[in-house]
Amino acid sequence: MKKIILTGDRPTGRLHIGHYVGSLRRRVELQNSGEYDHIYIMIADAQALTDNFEHPEKVRSNILEVALDYLACGLDPEKITIFVQSAVPELTEITFYYMNLVTLSRLQRNPTVKAEIQMRGFETSIPVGFLNYPISQASDITAFKATTVPVGEDQLPMIEQTREIVRKFNSIYGDVLTEPEALVSSNIACQRLPGTDGKAKMSKSLCNCIYLADEADEVQKKVMSMYTDPDHIKVTDPGKLEGNTVFTYLDAFCRDEHFASYLPEYENLDALKAHYQAGGLGDVKVKKFLNRVLEEELAPIRERRKEYEKRIEWVYEVLRKGSEEARREAADTLDGMKAAMKINYFEDSDFLRDWNAR
Ligand code: ATP
Ligand code: MG
Repeated sequence: MKKIILTGDRPTGRLHIGHYVGSLRRRVELQNSGEYDHIYIMIADAQALTDNFEHPEKVRSNILEVALDYLACGLDPEKITIFVQSAVPELTEITFYYMNLVTLSRLQRNPTVKAEIQMRGFETSIPVGFLNYPISQASDITAFKATTVPVGEDQLPMIEQTREIVRKFNSIYGDVLTEPEALVSSNIACQRLPGTDGKAKMSKSLCNCIYLADEADEVQKKVMSMYTDPDHIKVTDPGKLEGNTVFTYLDAFCRDEHFASYLPEYENLDALKAHYQAGGLGDVKVKKFLNRVLEEELAPIRERRKEYEKRIEWVYEVLRKGSEEARREAADTLDGMKAAMKINYFEDSDFLRDWNAR
């Protein structure tokens, strides 16, 4: 069986370091591993509209921002397909057929959707489109026959939902669809990077992000005002690691070599953590170290982003061509699905013959 990846992001803002450790960094590694037959990366504008329908301008203005973030991180359109969701209308048609296979109560049980409904204040009136987005996500994944979906931990319920839809479709109509698997980072800190405010998840919608495009001074400002341990007041106080965002970010980004370069008095992160817990290590010193670690990773991304920004017409063409290519693939899957469902009347020579043979 071919190995195919589909994953993506909502163009609700520029991408942040949570996306980077949760999915983007991995995508680039997978792209360069040469192990996959095809990689599709989708800018999920239609999904973004499900909770931003009153602000299409926000979605529009972030299409190229997200594309720039992709290219800056090292995604290479020579090797993969980057496309825009709404430019592939077949995805909407597939969603429509999948809606028959899912109950309302099953959608309402999805823990990520539940949390997002609460966060957006939709409790009293949930737009149908928003509640439906896990189904639309199942179409996105299956339209490209994806076997692997690299995502952050918040997306696991969506992949589970997709697997259920695939099993149901195949059991009713025949073995047409591919059951995908989620690929989540083995590093717990990367699965759901918290916001700089210590909130459970760094999220564009919560304004607690360090963006890949942030200038060095902005990153430094954000790092220096980050949430740590509120009881660690004096340097001599013992500090807590649980819920301490600065250490979570170090877990996600720091390697032993960083200590040799920037903090040689410690051998590794374990030694730094032990000192912090024992007392005698101030937050400022740890934050300055984190800032240098982040800067080492983010500076080249920021520079590449500026270079691609100068070639924005080329970036636009990448999306246009990628969307055309994605459309051909989704149309092929949809044809197979409609044939399996026996609703391909005008491509099916048996259709009239069956009528005449009644
Ligand atoms: P929004 O608030 O609009 O939903 P978001 O910041 O949650 O935006 P998405 O576009 O929904 O970003 O997510 C894109 C991908 O990035 C998904 O695979 C998601 O799991 C992953 N991701 C998002 N935020 C984080 C995070 N804080 N840590 C790890 N992965 C994340
Ligand atoms: Mg999200």
